[in-house]
Amino acid sequence: MASSVRVRFAPSPTGALHVGGARTAVYNWAFARRNGGAFILRIDDTDPGRSTAENTAQILRSLEWLGLDWDEGPGVDGSFGPYFQAERADNYHAALERMKADGSAYPCFCSPAELEAKRASVRAGEAEGVSGGYDRACRRLDAATTAARIAAGEPHVWRLAVPEGRGDIVVPDAVRGDTVFPATAMDDYVLVRGDGTPTYNFATVVDDADMQITHVIRGDDHLSNTPRQILVYEALQRPVPVFAHLSMIWGSDGKKLSKRHGATSVEAFRDEGYLPEALLNYLALLGWSLDGETTIVPPEVLKAEFSLERISMSPAVFDFEKLEWMNGAYIREMAPEVFEERMIPWLEKAGLASATELEERHDWLLTLAPLVAERAKRMTDIAPMVRFLFDEETAIDPAAAKKVLANEDAGRVLAATRDALAAVEPWTRSAVEQALRALPEALAVKPRQLFQVVRVAVTGSAVSLPLFESVELLGRERALARLEATRLEAAQ
Ligand code: GLU
Repeated sequence: MASSVRVRFAPSPTGALHVGGARTAVYNWAFARRNGGAFILRIDDTDPGRSTAENTAQILRSLEWLGLDWDEGPGVDGSFGPYFQAERADNYHAALERMKADGSAYPCFCSPAELEAKRASVRAGEAEGVSGGYDRACRRLDAATTAARIAAGEPHVWRLAVPEGRGDIVVPDAVRGDTVFPATAMDDYVLVRGDGTPTYNFATVVDDADMQITHVIRGDDHLSNTPRQILVYEALQRPVPVFAHLSMIWGSDGKKLSKRHGATSVEAFRDEGYLPEALLNYLALLGWSLDGETTIVPPEVLKAEFSLERISMSPAVFDFEKLEWMNGAYIREMAPEVFEERMIPWLEKAGLASATELEERHDWLLTLAPLVAERAKRMTDIAPMVRFLFDEETAIDPAAAKKVLANEDAGRVLAATRDALAAVEPWTRSAVEQALRALPEALAVKPRQLFQVVRVAVTGSAVSLPLFESVELLGRERALARLEATRLEAAQ
């Protein structure tokens, strides 16, 4: 039987999806999967000025890239749609009508200037007010007066009538326990603006209630909104969901994570060569743990084991180095044929070869894949590492060239290596190795010295993939040509 758990991720499309939002999405998704429930994606686009279709598209792309599939939402039909707040005006209207009918919402005709004057006098200690909030003047108007003023077309907003004697509001939270908000801190806040659009707190509750959301898992920047939202659930007589507020993500300096610390949007991490499963794993561990020590938690494990009980209350610190380490671990663990496939777009993007060319060289690429996988931390490390295998000629790194060409034996070594490789038959890694290993003794040079000279000539760099494999993968013709070109240069 499908469980009744229903959770949602409700981003506002006012920018790209950042790691904080992405982590919230991961937790909601994992919680739904763990409990056989539904993960709903709702786009909170009530701010028409700042919400754009491009931002929505980017958020959807980021979630798809991370592998966070939703059961209801944009592009996926469900019985609780539409899944864009901008299309749910009827629901807000209906909820407001119910609240008007029982007096839990009332119209307020105070102009912005009047409201500001009231706030100023509260600040100055001249008037009483709820935490600098609204003084409830319009709540005292009688029904006939408000009806007449509305009928006359007077601009107004709709406010929540916080129940008299409601008392303190306790926000129970699966992560942080109870937080008590004093009743005096609750003002009659605006539910619906003068232009008829709902405020965040109102729209969120109406939607969460209508969509039968059972658990609200979100950032703790919303904790102070929660008592306000609870009052709307109560007014609408709808069950209050379980809340779980997640601690903020900090940079290593203890400040809120921002661009100053490095990439923060999911697509920036994608472009920097991170794998979606590694980023997903890393985000999952930013405030949750499997058992306090396991660091590699693949999506299947996360889906099977995620629980609210293991979410931590302390702020998580985003550690770019750890993420990079984790990414490298995922790369190393990948089956060679999988890594081979996944290298292709990165090689193509770097302009080294087309996907078709690469597919034609399948066996060759499959030999290369594990050599790269052992060394790459990110997918962006691949192209610089293998470029020498694709370029017709290789430009030798000047520092390496200087070192090698200064070696008095370089010319001799390069000529002998060229001759030895010319005779290698068949052209395999082990035959190449055998031929090269025999050289130092024959030439009376140190093996390390010889291999260094050959490495620089063949790969263009003093640091490269392993030498014998590099020579084999490069092919005889190009290996000989590079040895000869470097020899001529050394002879000058
Ligand atoms: N649209 C809100 C946000 O992006 C949703 C908050 C919530 O989950 O209630 O912050």
